[in-house]
Amino acid sequence: MPSGREAGGSMTKPVPFLVGGERVQGSAGSFDSVNPATGTVNYAVSAAGASDVERCVSIAREASRTPSWKGLHPHERAQILARIADGIRARSEGLAAIQMRENGKVMAECRAQVASAAATFRYYASVCETLGSEVTPARGDYLSLTVYEPMGVVAAITPWNSPLTMEAQKIAPAIAAGNAVIVKPSEVTPTAAIEVAAIALEAGLPPGILNVITGTGRDTGVPLVRHPGVRMVSFTGGTETGRAIGTIAAERLIPVALELGGKSPNIVFADADLEAAVDGVVGGIFEGSGQSCVAGSRLFVQRTALDAVLARLKDHAEALRVGVPDAAGVRMGPLASFPHREKVEAYVASARAEGGEILVGGGRPDDTALAGGAFYRPTVITGLTNAARACREEIFGPVLCVLPFDDEDDLVAQANDSSYGLACGIWTSDYRRALRVAGAIEAGTVWINTYKQLSIATPFGGFKDSGIGREKGVSGMRLYQQSKSIYLGLDERVMGAGR
Ligand code: NAD
Repeated sequence: MPSGREAGGSMTKPVPFLVGGERVQGSAGSFDSVNPATGTVNYAVSAAGASDVERCVSIAREASRTPSWKGLHPHERAQILARIADGIRARSEGLAAIQMRENGKVMAECRAQVASAAATFRYYASVCETLGSEVTPARGDYLSLTVYEPMGVVAAITPWNSPLTMEAQKIAPAIAAGNAVIVKPSEVTPTAAIEVAAIALEAGLPPGILNVITGTGRDTGVPLVRHPGVRMVSFTGGTETGRAIGTIAAERLIPVALELGGKSPNIVFADADLEAAVDGVVGGIFEGSGQSCVAGSRLFVQRTALDAVLARLKDHAEALRVGVPDAAGVRMGPLASFPHREKVEAYVASARAEGGEILVGGGRPDDTALAGGAFYRPTVITGLTNAARACREEIFGPVLCVLPFDDEDDLVAQANDSSYGLACGIWTSDYRRALRVAGAIEAGTVWINTYKQLSIATPFGGFKDSGIGREKGVSGMRLYQQSKSIYLGLDERVMGAGR
């Protein structure tokens, strides 16, 4: 449970953030964390302003320069990352409960995301210990080495949909690489990162290497990105925010990694196992109430299988239980916030206005027990074209638009007709076709006869407006390093007669 709050939810003072190993009350007041399943305030959280950002960057910069972290041997850093993984696992129930009450995800998914965060620290412990430098081919009397050094201070700015996994994905490789990190979590999910930073301190990470400052994008995020002491920004969130951050980074000439939005096509050919395909389609859009960057929100169905797919889709979607996120059997919790539900409702209204027909859902649940939360029913819309607003913009909610196609060329043209390029699913029994279409689709990840499988060992990122750079995998640690080439002269005339 975040400190600064009494058991039972009554307020003492705002939950402090964590800088230089100490809990800090910020200078910009506080903001409320609201439980979207009930509408009640979880707690107030302290907000960092420009002076807090200044102090945090200065502490992180100092920590990044001292040998207490970057001077450790890789295997010594790896030991601490492994201990952080153990600490996360040991507190998994508490961390999952924090995420559930802040963003409303069902508890089973929150638990899975804690396990994923722990696995991410363990994975980067291994990468840290095993990833070497390079001896490059010499073209003269010298030995040439390429070594990899940390960037310095890395700002990690994260969204609300999967805070534990997104933050681990940035923190683990960045600290493994020897950097100091400042996390700015979403104001919707502010406290999980603070708990992880506390676990890291207990695991032996030197103070100042992992800091968390909470607050809004405007008051906390912008001064952080602008600060000259920040040498890299790793951002996950919406495309427009990513563009704003990328613009500042371009002016400052610092590297950015941007994991942004998506409008991913999930494609069902008539020769697919339709039952398995519809199961995958339903999980791909409705898991997490559709609040996933890789949500398969545009369903392309070969016209000859359209009726069969729609019938199954209706059955599967209507069977999904919407409810409070810790109740047994609930597959969909609320949306993460009330303003976000309004945004989703506006998209469904726009789809109706553009001629869309609601096959399933299209509104709030009737259950009066859910009236206090930001719930929305799984929604399937037919009758639109790919040009409709609901098919072009990221809704980030439980809304699936079904679009028929005639042949492969028609399909590839429609699927690629999007500003986004994050992910894609293909369901077919013809593997040659599957690989052909996978090659033609503009997306950073393609799933064939599966959806939303994600591995920390596999690079992840977007084409087009879905982002720049790739997180995860071995190269996910290189993202947070800069190479330095060293030439060691071996010319005997210079080396002398030392033999
Ligand atoms: P958002 O862009 O509104 O906010 C993300 C973070 O940026 C928050 O911490 C916010 O406070 C901060 N922020 C906002 N404006 C800022 C600014 N001008 N400067 C610096 N920081 C600023 O996104 P969100 O609503 O929290 O998350 C949903 C979005 O995240 C969706 O678009 C989703 O697709 C995307 N997402 C992408 C991935 C991926 O890996 N590609 C994963 C998860 C979520």
